[in-house]
Amino acid sequence: MNFTGKEIEKFGSFSTPFYYYNLDLLKKTLEVLKAASLKYGYKIHYAVKANANERILRLISSYGFGADCVSGNEVSKAVECGFDASKVVFAGVGKSDKEILTALRLGIFCFNSESVQEVEVINSLAKAENKTASVALRLNPGIDAHTNQKINTGLADSKFGIPFTKLKETVEFVKGLSNIKLIGIHYHIGSQILDFEPYKLLCERSNEIQAELEKLGLQLPVINLGGGLGIDYNKPEKNSVPEFEKLLDLIHKDLKVKEGQEVHFEFGRSVVAQCGVLVSKVLYVKQGDTSDFAILDAGFTDLIRPALYGAYHKIENLTSTADENGVYDVVGPICESTDVFAKSRSLKKTSRGDLLAFYSAGAYGEIMASQYNLRDLPHVYFSE
Ligand SMILES: *Cc1c(COP(=O)(O)O)cnc(C)c1O
Repeated sequence: MNFTGKEIEKFGSFSTPFYYYNLDLLKKTLEVLKAASLKYGYKIHYAVKANANERILRLISSYGFGADCVSGNEVSKAVECGFDASKVVFAGVGKSDKEILTALRLGIFCFNSESVQEVEVINSLAKAENKTASVALRLNPGIDAHTNQKINTGLADSKFGIPFTKLKETVEFVKGLSNIKLIGIHYHIGSQILDFEPYKLLCERSNEIQAELEKLGLQLPVINLGGGLGIDYNKPEKNSVPEFEKLLDLIHKDLKVKEGQEVHFEFGRSVVAQCGVLVSKVLYVKQGDTSDFAILDAGFTDLIRPALYGAYHKIENLTSTADENGVYDVVGPICESTDVFAKSRSLKKTSRGDLLAFYSAGAYGEIMASQYNLRDLPHVYFSE
C-alpha cells in the first residue's frame, strides 16, 4: 500500500491512533484467492480471529467464503455478518458448553475438535438438543512450520491437536458416539509460513493418515489443511497480495484426494494483513544517552505484535518533509518496558506531530487491541 498526498492530507483530520483499511486492496486479494480456489474446487474459510471488524467480515462473506471461528462469539458474529452457517467451522482446544450449544443451534458445518474429552461433551450436548454434530479431528502432524516459535502449532509438544499415535483409538471411540458424525481430519501447522516445504510435508502426512484410515475401513469426506500462509512484512508495497495460487498449485500436486473428498483451507493473515495500516502521531522525540526515542500515541494496546512476538512491521514517517533520516527507538506510551515497536529504526527526521504508518497491520492488529492503562481503543477508518 502506498499513500497519495491526498490520503495523507485526509489522515491529518482523523483522530489518532487509527487503523485505516484499503478496501480496494482487500477486494483484489479476495478476487485472487477466489480464482485460485475455484481452479481446484477448494473450499476457503476466512479465519475470523485475524480481523473481526464488521465491515471487513461483510465484505469477505459477500465473496461466498466460509468462516473459521475459534470462539462461540466468533461463530455468532460470522453468521451475523453474512457467512452462511453451513460454511462455518469451529476450532479451538477448549470449547465451553455454552459455545458448543451456540454453534449447534446455529447449525454450523463442522466442529474441529482436538480431544476425545471434548468430542464426548459435544456428543452429549448434541443428544440433548436432538441433533447430530459433524466433527473433524484436528491431528498434530508433528511438523515444524519454520516460523516464529510463538506461532508454531504443529510440533509434537504443542498443546494443539491429537497426537498422530492416538489416531486409531480416537477414531474408533468417536465412531461409537451416537450423535457425532465424523466427517474429516483437520490440521493447522502454524502461522506466517513463507517456506512452502512444511506444506509439502503436511501433504505427505495427510496422505499417510489417509492410508491409515483406509485400513480402518474409513474414507472421510473432508481434508482441512488449516491456514498459515505468510505475507511479506518487509516489502508490503511490492508483495501486497500473497501467493495463494502458488500454494494451492503445490497442494494440488502433492495431496492425494479421493473421489468425493473436499479440501478445505482456513486463511486469516494472508487475507487481511496487507489491507490495514496503523497510523499514529508522534508525541515527543526524546534524546536518551544511547538513542533517540520517538514516543508515539499508539502503544502495544493498539498493535501488540512487536511486543508479543518480536514481530517486524515496516514503519514510515508519512508527513516529515526532511531530506535526511534519523535513527529512533520507536516506542509507545504504556507503562511497560516491552512497549517498543522497533529499535534503531531509520526514519525520515521525525518531530512532534508527525504521522507514522505501520504497514501490514490488518491481521492480528485491531482485534488484539486492549484497554490496558484504561486507554481508548484505536479509531477505525476505511478508504471508502
Ligand atoms: C489462527 C488459525 C488459522 C489462521 O491462521 P493464519 O496464519 O492467520 O492464516 C486457521 N486455522 C486455525 C485452526 C487457527 O487457529
